[in-house]
Amino acid sequence: MLTFDGHNDLLLNLWLHHRDAPAAAFFNGIERGHLDFPRMQQGGFAGGLFAIFVPPQHYIASMTPHYADHPYQPLEIMWQQLDILQQIADASAGRAKICRSTAEIAACREQGVLALVAHIEGADALDAEGEALAAFYHAGVRSVGPFWNLPNRFGTGVSGNFPASPDTGPGLTAAGKAFIQQVNALKMMVDVSHMNEKAFWDTARLSSAPLVASHSNAHALCAQPRNLTDAQLAAIRASDGLVGINFGNAFLRADGKRTSDTSLAEIVKHCDHLLTTMGADHVAFGSDFDGISTPDALGDVSGLPRLFDALRDAGYDQALSEKLAWGNWQRVLHLTWH
Ligand code: ZN
Repeated sequence: MLTFDGHNDLLLNLWLHHRDAPAAAFFNGIERGHLDFPRMQQGGFAGGLFAIFVPPQHYIASMTPHYADHPYQPLEIMWQQLDILQQIADASAGRAKICRSTAEIAACREQGVLALVAHIEGADALDAEGEALAAFYHAGVRSVGPFWNLPNRFGTGVSGNFPASPDTGPGLTAAGKAFIQQVNALKMMVDVSHMNEKAFWDTARLSSAPLVASHSNAHALCAQPRNLTDAQLAAIRASDGLVGINFGNAFLRADGKRTSDTSLAEIVKHCDHLLTTMGADHVAFGSDFDGISTPDALGDVSGLPRLFDALRDAGYDQALSEKLAWGNWQRVLHLTWH
């Protein structure tokens, strides 16, 4: 089963740990984390959204001493991460390509080329006037989530621990409302994952694009504040959008534990709930590989075939699995980008 996946943090992993030769690391294999080219080939991972994400300075310092004496320049780091994606495409000898349209993604699938879509997770470093956003658009970025976990000039991301409501603070600021309109005007995807509930509803009212939560699960099954209530799921369905299921233990488990003895049945339960609430056209995958800890039963990207086995064993037919794995992302990206 070929999979198009809605979210991963490969670029951050490469930026943190393989800054000198990121493309070589990607194609030869990476020890740390869930993703590299050989394991993607094994798992049928044929494309996805690749996040440009700049963590807080203290987090970067805790992850690697490499940047300890560098100034913290988030906008510069965003460009460096986009450049890593370009280096991967350039070094791929035709095996990977940055895609700006669904026609390009479809052509990649036909030709066995890995389809890379650039996504911004957290607009903290972007100006309110939309200049940096436009520059990233012209450089190939096609999707933006305004927030990560912290507040920024555009509003407030979800923070807080299990169990909690996603209603964690004020919604979009005036700059945040203008930002959604800028993203719409560029026909980029708006990602509502990481929005708190008020920002979500502000976006639902404002945005002309389908609502997409690229890597979030069902709050009814796992009361993580990053997960979506049934009312939010209904709004996503009404907008003709989708939810990409997150494979992180902390987003899956009803008990809120972060341990990795989570069975694949937990992912299937979230699939079931999202399908019941939203229907077959609005559910997909948003692994969050390299950004979360996964169930041992899944492991890394090479374990994706085991997930499709679990779905088949739970009664999912081939046509439905193909929608989840590929078709629904293509449908919603096409609606958004055209
Ligand atoms: Zn995220």
